[in-house]
Amino acid sequence: MKKTMLLFLCLAILLITGCNKKEIKTTISDDELIAINYPVTGINILDDAITSYINKTRTNFKKEYKNYKNPELNISYTYKELNDDIVNVSLNTEINADKKINKIKTFTYNKKTKSFLTMEDIIKDLDALDYNIKKQLLEKYRDSDIESLTNVSYDYFTFDDENLTLYLGMQTSKDNRQELIYLDIPLNSLKLLIDIDKTENTDNYIKIKKKNIDYDDKVVALTFDDGPSKYTTKILDTLKKYDACGTFFVIGNKVEFYNETLQRMVNEGNEIGNHSYNHKWLNRLSKQEFQEELNKTQEKVQKITGISPKVFRPTYGGYSDRLKSYTDLTFILWDVDSSDWKVKKKEKIINNIIPNVKDGSIILMHDNHEYSANAIDSVVKALKDKGYKFVTVSELLELKQLRENE
Ligand code: ZN
Repeated sequence: MKKTMLLFLCLAILLITGCNKKEIKTTISDDELIAINYPVTGINILDDAITSYINKTRTNFKKEYKNYKNPELNISYTYKELNDDIVNVSLNTEINADKKINKIKTFTYNKKTKSFLTMEDIIKDLDALDYNIKKQLLEKYRDSDIESLTNVSYDYFTFDDENLTLYLGMQTSKDNRQELIYLDIPLNSLKLLIDIDKTENTDNYIKIKKKNIDYDDKVVALTFDDGPSKYTTKILDTLKKYDACGTFFVIGNKVEFYNETLQRMVNEGNEIGNHSYNHKWLNRLSKQEFQEELNKTQEKVQKITGISPKVFRPTYGGYSDRLKSYTDLTFILWDVDSSDWKVKKKEKIINNIIPNVKDGSIILMHDNHEYSANAIDSVVKALKDKGYKFVTVSELLELKQLRENE
């Protein structure tokens, strides 16, 4: 009797905490050029639709592009709670092989009515708007010959605080890239059938912890890529426990989901670095695209923490002098690779790190895996026992500079 009660209680707790637990999942395969970021909303029907779309896209990609050289799959997302009931999610797929292909899929789900919404459910008098939309499209894409412009469907759309954005297909640009055709329509110009709440700005609060590092201390910098994630807080707990710190190279498109985690990072003496916005293979990007990947992350981190990152970790560890010349951020690589994403086991992760660390080492880990979060306690303890002090990468650079000037 008691046992069943306990089981019931556990299940109930699991159900309550399991539901509506939002997180951003990241799947990055460093040896395949695949990076997928998507939200887990806690709404089962919506999550099923999202994961099945992603699985299908991934399977097709592997099949269709297996004979190409360095094919890249990148799926990014947008997520917006329009009000307490309605969620809008977009999945933006980019495939880079011999040419660039860009597709978008969007979902708008009403938790209350348990149904996916179409444009007819959202906009009053769509017919009247239709004429206007076509006129604006023809104006915006005047120079391109897109026959579909007069025969648009309203299947794919996203929202931000100001605009409704309609996605209406693809066009091939002059440099042979496939680009999405889209139109921003100001929300205040629309007659809406639903209420849209404005998101509130988060308050910035920062009181950075001071560290006592001596000039000739033995130092090491822990770095974490591909987060934040739901495992990051465990890593922060451990760092705090040992009075240690690290540098978190965050993926910009995830950070809004982890406001508090980011603020904690800074408050507790850690550093936030930039790991691009969508985790694309950077060498393929134009100057403008590269800078956009960087700047969007800079802005998001600045908005949440009040601080702009100073350091950048290139995705897939790939960079060039060309890319370096496009930014003032300092490129940071590593000399100790935990290969955590590959070995997946605590003991192996520790073994990849501890014997290879020397004074001034930069250690690469990832904070989007449970096994990495589980290994961090032993890693920090072992390094501490060996007499290492922990610094952020910017502090490490400063210290190295000081020592060089000696
Ligand atoms: Zn990465």
